[in-house]
Amino acid sequence: MAGRFEKRGDIGLIIINNPPVNAISVAVRSAIVDGLNQASADAGIKGVVIVCEGRTFMAGADITEFKGAPKHPTFPEMLDVVEAFAKPAVAAIHGTAFGGGFEIALGCNYRVAVASAQVGLPEVKLGILPGAGGTQRLPRLIGVEAGLNAIVSGDPIPAPVAAKAGAIDKIVEGDLLEAAIAFLNDKIAAGGPHPKVSQIRIDPASLPADFFEAARKRIAKERRNLFAPQRIIDAVEAAVNLPLEEGLVRERELFVQCATNSQSKALQHVFFAERQVAKIPGLPADVKPRDIKSVAVIGAGTMGGGIAMNFANAGIPVTVLEVAQEGLDRGLGVVRKNYEASAAKGRITPEQVETRMGLIRPTLSYDDLKDADLIIEAVFETMEIKKTVFGQLDKVAKPGAILASNTSYLSIDAIAGITGRPGDVVGTHFFSPANVMRLMEIVRGSQTAPDVLATTLELAKRIRKVGVVAGNCHGFIGNRMLEGYGREAGLLLLEGATPQQIDGALYAFGMPMGVLQMGDLAGLDVGYKSRKDRDPASYETRATRVADRLVEAGRMGQKTNAGYYDYEPGNRTPKPSALVQQIIEETAAEFQIQRRAISDAEIIERCFLSMMNIGCEILREGHAYRASDIDIVYLNGYGFPAYRGGPMFWAENEIGLATALEKIKGFAASVGPRWWTPSPLLEQLVAEGRGFASVGA
Ligand code: NAD
Repeated sequence: MAGRFEKRGDIGLIIINNPPVNAISVAVRSAIVDGLNQASADAGIKGVVIVCEGRTFMAGADITEFKGAPKHPTFPEMLDVVEAFAKPAVAAIHGTAFGGGFEIALGCNYRVAVASAQVGLPEVKLGILPGAGGTQRLPRLIGVEAGLNAIVSGDPIPAPVAAKAGAIDKIVEGDLLEAAIAFLNDKIAAGGPHPKVSQIRIDPASLPADFFEAARKRIAKERRNLFAPQRIIDAVEAAVNLPLEEGLVRERELFVQCATNSQSKALQHVFFAERQVAKIPGLPADVKPRDIKSVAVIGAGTMGGGIAMNFANAGIPVTVLEVAQEGLDRGLGVVRKNYEASAAKGRITPEQVETRMGLIRPTLSYDDLKDADLIIEAVFETMEIKKTVFGQLDKVAKPGAILASNTSYLSIDAIAGITGRPGDVVGTHFFSPANVMRLMEIVRGSQTAPDVLATTLELAKRIRKVGVVAGNCHGFIGNRMLEGYGREAGLLLLEGATPQQIDGALYAFGMPMGVLQMGDLAGLDVGYKSRKDRDPASYETRATRVADRLVEAGRMGQKTNAGYYDYEPGNRTPKPSALVQQIIEETAAEFQIQRRAISDAEIIERCFLSMMNIGCEILREGHAYRASDIDIVYLNGYGFPAYRGGPMFWAENEIGLATALEKIKGFAASVGPRWWTPSPLLEQLVAEGRGFASVGA
């Protein structure tokens, strides 16, 4: 039974009970419809309270019903019954009334809530819009601008804030149900009329004439390339201009447009992928994570400082070790500056700056690491230095301490091998800026102990990161695939594209910035230095030749006001450079590459299909558990647009695996087979008509 109807004197109670979150399944919808019908038919009942058992009010639609034919009563059918109900109805809210849950509450005459409750319409996050009256009722209730912003952001609204805005009639204390009944009895005693949101008329003249035009422009900028937010504006416009009944029809049309758009499919993929990523095959459910009460970080450079901030933010004391006082001072200075910048923006209080700085303890002595439960190394990226550091750690760390490396490329097994406790060693690969980027690749070495893995996964959650487990291969998941991305961009430059065309195409695709601009931001000297240590036979030297020449000409990127682009001092806007164009053309001539017109489509396909092909290899080798994990890496670590689902989902759904294979074979013929040999996994999937969902865990 997902719900039941009870009588309490002359008040009817519709009590929903559909654990764990009272998702609005067909059974719940039936219980609401049945309860309201019974209350209508019973002359002894003067009003109804809708309330939920368990930890929350109805937290939203039942997402498992998204696929498949609609079940009756559908959401709109149920809301019609709520709307037509002629006696006063109160929604009694605790926990989270999101999506359909909030829409049911909006259909009632009154809403009461406990102070800790939250309401909201988060549908936009799944690429859809509230399809059960939310876009019509919320703006009527709290105003057009506030309603529009709430629906476009999809963010939760704390009950006290919602009450101030007028979406909740009363914040109640004590027992919720008793308070709701008392509230309803008062309203009944007062004799009504009992307000209905549907009866509120918005006067279009109360809005600036260009309100919706301006909203479209603003939201197009803030939610770049997104389909649903624009349809939400259309729906809210209908709420202003049409009576409720017609507005609901319009809302439904727009809902269907969103639900059938590729973006909603991609965003739903992301939703499920995020829930799956922490499920690790072969990790027994009863593994007990180790206790992490204190942490140490070695190296206070770009990454070490940011990594330390994550722990201080979570209230975990963290010792930071450097080789010299100067490095410590510089590193902690940057951390303080970051915190102060957050405080200046009002994101944290000045007291929090001090509390967090107080949790970070600088040291030059390994002795100070002996009590740490977890030690993360973030020193220079060379095996020799890493080995020295881990040798020292092996001597000072207490038994059972987890020893982690933030290495970008190096073998975790090789690092673990120099310690006497390889089971305690794991990779924790953060992304820059480490205090901001959500991704943490967790590199599982061949000997990493199950409880070390479980601890690291749990810790990722504690510091609000998305932990993705990767196998131990060169560059793990993210950086290994990135190589294909950078290589194709480098080759396309020589073949005829300009930096601005490449970056423009990638930006239009949805990346936060193009790969060359990204190089300028990170510093071209970083890659240059790392290539010095690499065997030239292991990578495409033609693709990096322009970057090499830029660095040798002193063009390191933004920090020198010159890289692939020119920059004016203090200004990050890239300007095309005639000198760079000359270097590109000279380099193309050097390799006897005939320059030609390149289409934007070729830029996208070469950059991202090369990535996907490497992703297939990672999957085939078992270095990722599932294709959706690879997508999560790219969404959270590299800014791949969520509305395209990630590089694997994009290839499968926007290109199609069979077409992708054909294109890869085409590039093998035109660009050369060295980097364009199709992954055997891709060939197998296409031959067998299977998709990525059939691979891995
Ligand atoms: P960085 O040069 O900014 O910082 C390294 C710091 O380590 C320096 O402050 C240096 O003084 C210190 N250090 C060097 N040897 C040491 C030792 N023996 N003991 C203590 N401290 C020592 O480098 P970074 O960019 O922070 O990179 C650190 C690690 O993180 C590397 O393995 C790198 O591959 C990885 N990483 C970097 C990024 C990035 O974008 N910068 C992203 C992910 C991972």
